Amino acid sequence: MADGTQGRQVEERWLDTGSGPGRVVQVYVYPADPVETARRALKVHLENCAECAPDSWCPVSDRLYAAYRGERGPAS
Ligand SMILES: [Zn+2]
Repeated sequence: MADGTQGRQVEERWLDTGSGPGRVVQVYVYPADPVETARRALKVHLENCAECAPDSWCPVSDRLYAAYRGERGPAS
């Protein structure tokens, strides 16, 4: 399922609620892998974007692809 949760890890973190005692919450974290994260984001986008076609990507895909390639992408 392409729900964006692949590869997640569950980590417990302390949440300071600001008043009263804090508490421990479970959060989803992803391994520190920007390329994999960008690749996944691009894949999810392409599967859900109405403007993207296999031979015609929208500007969002261009930026996601640039991120995947380790580039900064268009400045907009
Ligand atoms: Zn798109």
